[in-house]
Amino acid sequence: MNFKIAVIKGDGIGPEIVDEAIKVLNKVGEKYYHNFEFTELLAGGIAIDKTGHNLPEETLEACKKSNAVILGAVGGPKWDSLPGNDRPEKALLGLRKELNLYSNIRPAMMFDVLKDACPLKPELVKGGLDIVIVRELTGGIYFGKKFTKNDYACDYMEYSKYEIERIAHQAFKIAEARNKHVTSVDKANVLETSRLWRKTVAEVSKSYPNVKLDNLYVDNAAMQLVINPKQFDVIVTENMFGDILSDEASMITGSIGMLPSASLGDNNFGMYEPIHGSAPDIAGQGKANPIATILSIAMMLKYTLSLHKEAESIENAVKRALEQGARTADIRKYEEKIITTEEMGNIIAGNIE
Ligand code: NAD
Repeated sequence: MNFKIAVIKGDGIGPEIVDEAIKVLNKVGEKYYHNFEFTELLAGGIAIDKTGHNLPEETLEACKKSNAVILGAVGGPKWDSLPGNDRPEKALLGLRKELNLYSNIRPAMMFDVLKDACPLKPELVKGGLDIVIVRELTGGIYFGKKFTKNDYACDYMEYSKYEIERIAHQAFKIAEARNKHVTSVDKANVLETSRLWRKTVAEVSKSYPNVKLDNLYVDNAAMQLVINPKQFDVIVTENMFGDILSDEASMITGSIGMLPSASLGDNNFGMYEPIHGSAPDIAGQGKANPIATILSIAMMLKYTLSLHKEAESIENAVKRALEQGARTADIRKYEEKIITTEEMGNIIAGNIE
């Protein structure tokens, strides 16, 4: 099959890690007879330097005409003195808003061979960890009305039933393809929006009779993630709670260079990126770990292109590379040889079956 992929490499380590992800994707194309057609686009600091805008119109238009978007990372010290709206990072908000990407999917995956990097007791994560957090991305307190008047400030938290329904459907669909368990997180003992959230999620759950639904208050969920993380399969929650819980869950796995993410809209359209930033401290030195970006490509195959076998081939190739002892500096624990970004990409591409 033929797929159109928009590629935004961005700043810092962005180009290095995206190049390795594309190498792996081309290998998947070769093995499984797909053609991935890439359009390289500008956003972030490099776009400011070349066009004067952090998110050129041409980039948005080309993204809209693609099946999916792959993004490296944006930002860096060179642009840090710019005012808020002109900064490279603002391009991310523009992309999410203009492409209507209302849900953020973040797996917190821990490979058994890297369990030493986990800050929790080994018995709590024995056999690895595999949680998906589905966070509502375009509603709630971050997007509600807000104002400051003298010594008073206010942020409104708002949700409509429709916003909750569409994210709940996404969480249940993901759970159906996994371990068939959704935990909905809210603060329904205190917040009106949470009471609407809980009621709506329960209604949506009726369309997925083979998926079990649990509800947890957010304070309890934060605690459960560190005392019993293996109880979770898919967690669905509103914007601010999801922001906090997804960082907590991802850090349980120990390494920022390993974690992918997806932002999805309607009709399975999505933008795929590592959760880390542009890492200016190691940019251009071949030290960056490309695995988060490579696993983001696996998510793209799964969630947007419905190529499940192909996605699995990438996940298995990464797992095998780690078992073979392939380590970039960030995930090296013992005396393993440190390899470069490119070498890691080559090993993973070579492992695609
Ligand atoms: P960062 O994630 O870029 O880096 C934090 C630390 O993790 C650094 O020590 C870095 O070297 C390391 N690291 C990150 N990714 C790595 C990888 N793949 N392999 C090995 N080590 C890795 O966060 P930061 O330093 O706070 O931000 C740097 C810039 O990135 C800032 O301009 C920030 O605004 C931007 N940023 C962009 C995004 C994005 O594009 N989605 C997200 C977060 C931060």
